[in-house]
Amino acid sequence: MTTADVDAFAHRVRAFHAARGPATPRWALDVARRSENPACAFCTAPLNVDHRHSWGLSPLVPLNQGGPADTENQLMACKRCIAERGSRDLLAWPELSQRLPPDTLDALLADRLFVLQRSDNHLVEVGRFAKPATVLAQLQERWMHPRFVVHVERHSDSWMLGWPLAQRAHLTRNDLAALLRNVHQGEWLEHPEVVAFRLREDVFQSAVWHLIALHALVVPLPLGTDTPSDRSFENRWMARYPSLRQIRLRRQGTHETPWPSQGKDHVPAYSDKPNAVRMRTQRQATREGETKARWLEARRRLAKRDAGVAKGTLRTWLPGERAAMQADVDDLAQQWLSARRLFTRTLKESPAALIRSCSFNGLIDQ
Ligand SMILES: [Zn+2]
Repeated sequence: MTTADVDAFAHRVRAFHAARGPATPRWALDVARRSENPACAFCTAPLNVDHRHSWGLSPLVPLNQGGPADTENQLMACKRCIAERGSRDLLAWPELSQRLPPDTLDALLADRLFVLQRSDNHLVEVGRFAKPATVLAQLQERWMHPRFVVHVERHSDSWMLGWPLAQRAHLTRNDLAALLRNVHQGEWLEHPEVVAFRLREDVFQSAVWHLIALHALVVPLPLGTDTPSDRSFENRWMARYPSLRQIRLRRQGTHETPWPSQGKDHVPAYSDKPNAVRMRTQRQATREGETKARWLEARRRLAKRDAGVAKGTLRTWLPGERAAMQADVDDLAQQWLSARRLFTRTLKESPAALIRSCSFNGLIDQ
């Protein structure tokens, strides 16, 4: 690890935080301009919409913290508040509570929680069979704390991990630095612009999961090349999940052993009475058809989304988002294949006369 490496890392971290989101569309500004009694969302001072330089739009959830790039995430605010806030999370801005009456502040924070449901997220500690409400409850627990971004980058024998020094005043970050140094034996890399640590390969995974549990959004660098090559549990932190459904599907912890009937060497015992065979065959035929339709639908939606992104009518993929959707499609294909395997096996093993009497005969390719 040389000084040049640290400099390059610092450069990429600063580039990430300096990047501006896509420009606000003109119509969004027009909608904001036409609002009745325009006022600053952070200090309630009335705004003069004709003076374009006295006000601006400020995101509820900052874009570099995974906030969605849409108009519901934008608030009208005076230039003074925008400058004072910078790119902080609203919860990391203590002066805000002295400036707003309590009920307005509560409404603002409720809006923040709502927008966070459509923001980038990491995984939560629930199993893949958890209800959406459970996932949401765990995420909301996490959202009660200020969000912050931690960058990681892989090097030949170790990982580099850090964040911009400009935000070191944030209390959680100081705790984090102490944690990395004392618990995970991170080596502090001195740099004027970023707080950077070097972590050994063997402690890195546990450190990342520790950070995620402490409400950090861990973003791998360089951006755009972070599709997890293996989908093992340890590397799932690399993908980011923009919807609750994907969070629920992706996470399978080491404590979650599959159901005995789903194990590889499980041999199901079926009845061979004619009626049971007929009903079983029928059930498997339906399941085969349903899983195939679900897979084709998912594949069609992904292709449509791809076409939209290529044409520029839909927003570009977030890092790891496409890989997550592709993984969903692959899972559905696997489900269809296993359903088809079961169905064809039953067809082969059952007496032909019995099969001919089933009502799905039109479905089978002869
Ligand atoms: Zn203001």
